[in-house]
Amino acid sequence: MPKEYMERSLIDFQKDFPDNTACARHLVDQRWPDGFICPRCGHKEAWYLSKRCLFDCRNCRHQTSITAGTIFHKTRVPLLKWYWLIYHMAMDNVGVSIFEMQRLLGIGCYETAWLMAHKVRKAMVTRDKQYSLAGLVEMDESFFGPAGTKQG
Ligand SMILES: [Zn+2]
Repeated sequence: MPKEYMERSLIDFQKDFPDNTACARHLVDQRWPDGFICPRCGHKEAWYLSKRCLFDCRNCRHQTSITAGTIFHKTRVPLLKWYWLIYHMAMDNVGVSIFEMQRLLGIGCYETAWLMAHKVRKAMVTRDKQYSLAGLVEMDESFFGPAGTKQG
């Protein structure tokens, strides 16, 4: 594992990411650090539809999924489970058996868990432009870095 995946305690992680809302908020912060901007018209005000994880532009009504362009896109698995999977994989906990993660996270079938793990691993290993653009590299660093480096 690359060095930038720094140790973060399970308790800290749980405190910072207690539910899907917290994960979604974190993802939004990573992707739009200066606040959401509509990709179609550049407007800065939008409604947030939390159930669907969408921004609805107040100006042009264009809807933007917060997961578009990331490995979470079009997934039916809640963000929280993804975050937990990334956490465990980044910490390289006991080699992380996919079967074990499927059981721990309550993911419906093995194929889904396998696909998720595959995507996460690829994102961690392949630091190409596509993933940089997706905000994933930045996400990794703040996500797994020590709590002290977080803004604010
Ligand atoms: Zn717009």
